[in-house]
Amino acid sequence: SPHLGILGGGQLAQMLALAALPLGVRVTVLEPDAGAPARLCATHLHAPYTDAAGLDRLAGCDAVTLEFENVPAAALGALEGRVPVRPGRSLLERSKHRVREKRALREAGAQTAPFVAIETGADLDGALAQVGGRGVLKTSELGYDGRGQARVSDGAGLRAAWQEMGHVPCVLEGLVDFEREVSLSVARGPDGAVAFGPLIENVHRNGILRTSVCLEGDAHEAGAREVAGRVAAAWELQGLMTLEFFQLANGGLLVNEVAPRVHNSGHLTQDGGGVSQFEAQVRAVLGLPLADWRPLLPCAMVNIIGAGGQEPDQQPDWAGIDALPGTHLHLYHKAWRAGRKLGHVNLVAPDPATLRGRLAQLEALIP
Ligand code: ATP
Ligand code: MG
Ligand code: MG
Repeated sequence: SPHLGILGGGQLAQMLALAALPLGVRVTVLEPDAGAPARLCATHLHAPYTDAAGLDRLAGCDAVTLEFENVPAAALGALEGRVPVRPGRSLLERSKHRVREKRALREAGAQTAPFVAIETGADLDGALAQVGGRGVLKTSELGYDGRGQARVSDGAGLRAAWQEMGHVPCVLEGLVDFEREVSLSVARGPDGAVAFGPLIENVHRNGILRTSVCLEGDAHEAGAREVAGRVAAAWELQGLMTLEFFQLANGGLLVNEVAPRVHNSGHLTQDGGGVSQFEAQVRAVLGLPLADWRPLLPCAMVNIIGAGGQEPDQQPDWAGIDALPGTHLHLYHKAWRAGRKLGHVNLVAPDPATLRGRLAQLEALIP
């Protein structure tokens, strides 16, 4: 049976492994955290990403993928030439660095928000005006769930924000007045065959994804596919990646960022009745047959995020969730921490109106 290696053992690896097993695929993860979610459903190599013995074990797999883009370059270098790593190193180098990523997106013909790279104090001069007067300063690397970001609207605020970030390399993006946020995944097999996931609409709260919804027949799906297909070809994608978009009132699509893997917004594909994004990534990485994947029913997802207050007061209403028709609970076996993604609830319904009604109920059950 095929054997898939994964760099990283978080909840994405957990759900990749859960999708791989029924396909007859065994999974081994290399993950330094003893308590990481995938430990319970995959062989867990409990070692640093650069551990030689751990990397030797991954090199014995049929292919290696990742659930975490900040894998050290040394780990990728150690695997190079021994086992296919999908996506490969050059795509990862782009997608983990916001400035390189935006430049490479534009070279591929995709649109982004206006941006200025901030590397020295002199780069701050006039930067805000170049991006339209209001912006978001983001560290070029290592940010996720809105961490390492600050909204700025004047020069003093920009300077203070960059100081707060420790003067690390950053990007200043123009603040986009979007109509909504959407995402779309694209997969490309080793033979170059391309397949797409559905268009998904996303709502964020405090920079963290709160809710995703997927309905059939979204008018912007064709445009998002066109952009994703273009970037996948230009970047020579192998495996699966996800584009986050800002959709403008005039219908334009700006790419916010690219994740070289399955995405939180796509978790709803687990319970919508079609192939899930996790199965899609497993298939694409191992070169198994893969067609477009999409839910067969209207579906949505609400994240369970560690609330700010005392844990017992801020628990979701578990009994209420269970009692609501069409809910599916997915927990990550992680210790509670404020702001941490602990699980999600998928919701599926027979029609869009029922979905919207029950989604409002579900959101009220999750603080
Ligand atoms: P993720 O967890 O998705 O990786 P991240 O930390 O990489 O998050 P971004 O996706 O860059 O952060 O931003 C998080 C959210 O903040 C966006 O989804 C959007 O809601 C808002 N945001 C980010 N950049 C901008 C912008 N330039 N204009 C308007 N809103 C923005
Ligand atoms: Mg991100
Ligand atoms: Mg994002």
